[in-house]
Amino acid sequence: MLIVLNEKTPEEKKLKLMDDLKKISCNPFLSKDGKRIACTEVAPSVIEAFAAIDEVQEITRFNTPYRLASRQFQPDDSIIEVGQARIGDKNFFTIIAGPCAIESEEQMLETAEIVKRNGAKILRGGAFKPRTSPYSFQGLGKQGLEILKKAREKTGLPIVTEAMDEEQLEEVKNYADIIQIGARNMQNYSLLKKAGKTRKPILLKRSPSATIEELLLAAEYILLTGNQNVILCERGIKGFDSSTRNVLDLSAVALLKELTHLPVVVDPSHATGRKELVTPMTKAAVAAGADGVIIEVHCNPEQALCDKEQALSPADFANLIQETAEIAESMEKQL
Ligand code: PEP
Ligand code: MN
Repeated sequence: MLIVLNEKTPEEKKLKLMDDLKKISCNPFLSKDGKRIACTEVAPSVIEAFAAIDEVQEITRFNTPYRLASRQFQPDDSIIEVGQARIGDKNFFTIIAGPCAIESEEQMLETAEIVKRNGAKILRGGAFKPRTSPYSFQGLGKQGLEILKKAREKTGLPIVTEAMDEEQLEEVKNYADIIQIGARNMQNYSLLKKAGKTRKPILLKRSPSATIEELLLAAEYILLTGNQNVILCERGIKGFDSSTRNVLDLSAVALLKELTHLPVVVDPSHATGRKELVTPMTKAAVAAGADGVIIEVHCNPEQALCDKEQALSPADFANLIQETAEIAESMEKQL
């Protein structure tokens, strides 16, 4: 149920209404702009009583199964501020970049300097890696998080890194500025709830087999913890053609921007699995209305222990930034 408040409702009246709704256990949420309250369904007689309150403009139902993530609840874009980035602000296109995995202090610090120098606003790097094969490099774990911390100190860039389970989350939350929930865990609802409760911004990656509605309902689990800082990430879905690692669903980006106020970023690295496609798909992401990209860059891609086929070299990354800036500028966005 969605309660739309009158334009000039004073703050204390809103709080009183919220209290009354809490008393009847219908779990109310006030939108960021303070104009709407979402809550669970109540009996028709109770709806009537609330509808009669002066401050209430109207009471309606949600048109979608997800609620807090919907534009019906919050028409205006959510903007998530992390370091110098303003993810979701239509005047900016945020570049998040760094290696797939933290492999050593030298590799991480060198790559961090490169991405910073070229204009990335957020640094990525995996300490706990979800690998398809248990024989592949699994990441440096806690040691990797310590290296990430040094990279942040050295560059001033905030960091995003993944937690694959609740135990890792306990460590990751002490280091990350943004916690990544990877594609494989998009529907791990207990992890989503725990991640939400850390109060850190969450980068939620779409599972390769999830519908857009399933992605939004997964985000809803985080939003329901009271954490409003969720960034959605399109990273490619399963297809029949092995020419690319996944199929980058750019229509999902344009559609998500219609359906939700949450920021949407694109991961062209995991979507395509091919370094030569990362720059064109980044440019396409800008055109599709994405709020940013998350890109894999390695100071020496030939030596990468993880996802080397999709890792951009420093020169490739510099070129990506230059070409992307041109498209972004034409859309009145800044990198
Ligand atoms: C990653 O970003 O490091 C990663 C493993 O991506 P995904 O969860 O999208 O596969
Ligand atoms: Mn990777």
